[in-house]
Amino acid sequence: MNTLNKTQSEQAIDLENKYGAHNYHPLPVVLSKGDGVYVWDVEGKRYYDFLSAYSAVNQGHCHPKIVDALVEQSKRLALTSRAFYNDMLGKYEKFACKYFGFDKLLPMNTGAEAVETALKICRRWAYEKKGITENKAEIIVCKNNFHGRTTTIISFSNDPVARTHFGPYTNGFIKIEYDNLQELEITLKTNPNVAGFLVEPIQGEAGVYVPSEGYLKQAKALCEKYNVLFIADEVQTGIARTGKLLAVQHEDVVPDILILGKAMSGGAYPISAVLANNDIMNVITPGSHGSTFGGNPVAAAVAIAALTVVKEENLAENAEKLGQLFRNKINEYITTSNIVRLVRGKGLLNAIVIKEEEESETAWNICLRLRDNGLLAKPTHGNIIRFAPPLVMTQEQLLDCVAIISRTLQEFEK
Ligand SMILES: *Cc1c(COP(=O)(O)O)cnc(C)c1O
Repeated sequence: MNTLNKTQSEQAIDLENKYGAHNYHPLPVVLSKGDGVYVWDVEGKRYYDFLSAYSAVNQGHCHPKIVDALVEQSKRLALTSRAFYNDMLGKYEKFACKYFGFDKLLPMNTGAEAVETALKICRRWAYEKKGITENKAEIIVCKNNFHGRTTTIISFSNDPVARTHFGPYTNGFIKIEYDNLQELEITLKTNPNVAGFLVEPIQGEAGVYVPSEGYLKQAKALCEKYNVLFIADEVQTGIARTGKLLAVQHEDVVPDILILGKAMSGGAYPISAVLANNDIMNVITPGSHGSTFGGNPVAAAVAIAALTVVKEENLAENAEKLGQLFRNKINEYITTSNIVRLVRGKGLLNAIVIKEEEESETAWNICLRLRDNGLLAKPTHGNIIRFAPPLVMTQEQLLDCVAIISRTLQEFEK
């Protein structure tokens, strides 16, 4: 077809297909503007964003306070590298340490980098503090985890899509069932070389799996018993998404190492961080880890603004309240539904499971119809659709969205 006969959306999709690596399978919608809970496509159609860039945009699209911080700091000083000090990094580190309750922060850019950083800190701690024999440290991870896409991280994934033909893989990881304390304890008891337990408080990418109540608290207690670091990957669950500042706070757990990313910036900039107390973080010495962009002045200014917005606008409380309402409403729908098996989640991190085989196209087709009806969401794994709107949503907007979702699901009822 001649490009002249194509819509702007079709042209944009063609360009990505032709010149971009095919490492994603996006929903066919081409966005060009965002504001709060809304995004607009190139043809001017408005949608509710029910993905929030995988929870990076908790504060809503283009939040004026965050954008101002980005613009103002970019005009003054954007990058020094860590070869020199800058006047923003220390300010941000102090702010974030007080905010989350840790002694020290190590700034990185992406979630995967922060996970890699946490793994390195844990291994160093194993050799220098716990006294594990060199190169023998093991880190326990959970099946169906998602921690990013670097070579080491996919080494302990069990998702064939992420792993196939990317070997050889990194050693030093033990995979156990998620939400299984018995297996955790047996693994800790029989492996004296375990240094850490890396866990997502809710498995987001796997399909929003919420573990049993008490799991995180007891897992933390087991880690203490066996002198093993409890490492919480809160890249997706953190920063108000689940109705608390951190998802581990639902069970009053303080992790030894906290990994944050995504909403650290409210979506304006790639910012991630690892937090820990001095006894752990001090194993990191000059030259042992770093990043040219990590901790740059723009990131520092944006993160302070993004975290300030979370508190000022009570986003955790709003996520808790609207999340309850959302699950109540969807559960009402489910009582008369033949195609939705269940809804699960915490705060505004939720998912519905469609009564179909994992490989079925139904969830994808539902997402296409949701798009037509003005709401953007995406399947996580086959038959599971995640619903995670920006946390600045109002109750009225949420009810409007529930109506769109119900109306759309209705079209698929048999
Ligand atoms: C998204 C995500 C990551 C990876 O973050 P990137 O910024 O995409 O590298 C790591 N852990 C969890 C739990 C995530 O959801």
